[in-house]
Amino acid sequence: MGIFSKSEPKYYVIKGNELKCPVCGNDKFYSRRVQLNTTLATFFNLDWANRSATCLVCSYCTHIQWFLEDV
Ligand SMILES: [Zn+2]
Repeated sequence: MGIFSKSEPKYYVIKGNELKCPVCGNDKFYSRRVQLNTTLATFFNLDWANRSATCLVCSYCTHIQWFLEDV
């Protein structure tokens, strides 16, 4: 299994802003829900959080952007 799901990449709007890849300028991303491990959650002082996050992977250059909320 690669990081890409079978679904097509999509456009995302974050807080009213169209998400664009900071590396290549692409605007389509694959979305993955991921569990944060305890070390990472502690690093971000998120022991109170539900320890899951959303990562959006640029469909062109594969740069990953992380969000702690659903997007
Ligand atoms: Zn990109």
